[in-house]
Formats: sequence, C-alpha cells, structure tokens
Amino acid sequence: MAHIIDGKAFAESLRGRIAGHVARLMSDHGITPGLAVVIVGEDPASQVYVTNKARQTTEVGMASFKHELPADTAQDTLLSLIHALNRDPAVHGILVQLPLPAHIDPNAVIRAIDPAKDVDCFTPESVGKLAIGLPGPVACTPLGCLMLLRDLHPDMSGMNAVIVGRSNLVGKPMAQLLLRENCTVTMAHSRTRDLPEVVRRADIVVAAVGRPRMIAGDWIKPGATVIDVGINRIAAPERGEGKTRLVGDVDYDAVVEVAGAITPVPGGVGPMTIACLLANTVTTASLINGLEPVRDLTA
Ligand code: NDP
Repeated sequence: MAHIIDGKAFAESLRGRIAGHVARLMSDHGITPGLAVVIVGEDPASQVYVTNKARQTTEVGMASFKHELPADTAQDTLLSLIHALNRDPAVHGILVQLPLPAHIDPNAVIRAIDPAKDVDCFTPESVGKLAIGLPGPVACTPLGCLMLLRDLHPDMSGMNAVIVGRSNLVGKPMAQLLLRENCTVTMAHSRTRDLPEVVRRADIVVAAVGRPRMIAGDWIKPGATVIDVGINRIAAPERGEGKTRLVGDVDYDAVVEVAGAITPVPGGVGPMTIACLLANTVTTASLINGLEPVRDLTA
C-alpha cells in the first residue's frame, strides 16, 4: 500500500508558517500583506472558492479585499477596478477568479494585472520569470505539488517525471518547476502515443487532465510517487439519488496498491493551492517593499 500524502495537514502547517511571516512583516516593517479577490457573476463553485480564499487570508493575519461584480459587468468596468487595485498600496496580490463571463476576454484582464501583484502567476511576465528562474510568484497549484514532492524527495535529481496535461495553469509551470529540481521531465497530452507506456517510465507522475480516474493501476511503476491534481465531480448513486462525489484523474483504488506514495482527492493537492496563494502574497508584499522574499516558504 502506498503512503497517503496528507495535503490537508501539510497545508495547515504551511498556513502556520505563513502566519508567522505575516506577523514578522507587520512587527519589523509595518507591512500588512493584502490580497484582493475579484469575482464576476454568481458561479456557485467560484463563490465557494472565493469565500474560502477570503477566510484563509484573514486567518493568517493578512488583509482581504473581496470585490463581487454582477455577471453583466462591462469589461471596461472590470479593467478599471484592476487598474485601481494596481495603484492601491494596501493590495499586494490581485486574483481574478476564472472563469469569467463569456463577454469578457480573460487575456485582456490577466494582462491588466500589475505583474508585481500577480499572485496567480498568470501574466506573461510572471510566466517568463518562472521559466528563467527569477524571484516572483509561482503558479499556486504546481507550487503546492512541488512542496509535497520535496517533502518526500528532498533530492529529485535525475528522477523521471511524467506530467499528464499541458495547461498553462498546471502542466506547463509544473514542468518548469520539476526541471529546476533536475528531473528528466516528459510532458504528455491528448496527442501522446501509448500514454500508459510513457507513464510506466515515471518515478513521479503528476496527473492534471480533468478526466475521472483515467490513470490506471497498471500504468504505474511500482513505488512511483503519484500526484493527482484532477478534481472531477461524478455521480455517486451509492450515496443516494442525485448525490455526487469528487474523484481525481487517477484510479485511486488501483493505484494505491502499486504506487509508493499518492495524494488523495479530496485532501491532497486541493488544500495546498489556497495555502500557496497566501504564500505568494507574502512573496509579492516582500518584493514590492524591497525586501528579500521569504525563502523557506516556497523554496
Ligand atoms: P485543462 O483542461 O486546461 O488541460 C487538460 C490537459 O489534459 C490538456 O493538456 C489536455 O491535452 C490533456 N488531456 C485531456 N485528455 C487527455 C487524454 N485522454 N490523454 C492525455 N492527456 C489528455 O485542465 P487543467 O490543467 O486546468 O486542470 C486539470 C485538472 O486539474 C482538472 O480536473 C481541474 O479541475 C484540476 N485542477 C485542480 C486544481 C487544484 O487545486 N487541485 C487547480 C487547477 C486544476 P491537450 O493539451 O492535448 O488538449
């Protein structure tokens, strides 16, 4: 049986360290890191995410600014709000909850965010910094995966890492981070030939596909570490009519028998994402104020 990686506990301890750094930024430098979250429309899942982010932000002692706009908000109105947040010295991180309503161009919105406050690491500047190894925020979900991996494998040098999925949000930044760790990185996607065989070569598998339980038990090299980023809601008739439950992109019941370590869904990568958002806000608050970013939060 694989070791079950407890992302919830890890995220809790990370939030504790973040709270300590926030307290020191306040006492030593008079800085209260501030995170602004902008949501447009009433998508229920997005509402839950935004509420959780705001709660956890204040729990670690940071300032939280929540901006809820109606679904029919004009793009120019949203851009004006972002420009105002860019100028606001109390705001060190700006997060625009995606997806946005269809009439708003997400790329125009992302480009409007001051890269110095881009805690989601979406702007071209942040992506470029990550690629060439300059200090700055790192995409939250891949950063969370990296922390869990480093905890298990302090030296990943030479390990074969296979990332399934090549999105800008997860797959591509994950590849950059694992390259930095000196892994031999393979990125797989929907056009990859013989995916099971590619995955079988991996010492580390990161699954970010969005297809429930796609990665099967016999795709996994015995002892491999499996990080399941996927969050898929499926019908769960065993829980009652109309009930649903969350599963990952990995067939957990089969893979847990073969892998050396695995993240569960829920309770694995998910809790790390918000904790890393908070860590990124500490990083941007430090950099904006000319301070060295706190290395032991994200290093
Ligand atoms: P995207 O839909 O943007 O990307 C999915 C990727 O998977 C694409 O690169 C696609 O390939 C690839 N893919 C799709 N089907 C297959 C297949 N049959 N074989 C191989 N590759 C395939 O998804 P995201 O990266 O945004 O998210 C992935 C999953 O992670 C989702 O379940 C999402 O909910 C979850 N997620 C979880 C987070 C967390 O906090 N835990 C945060 C963000 C996402 P191609 O490029 O060729 O189309």
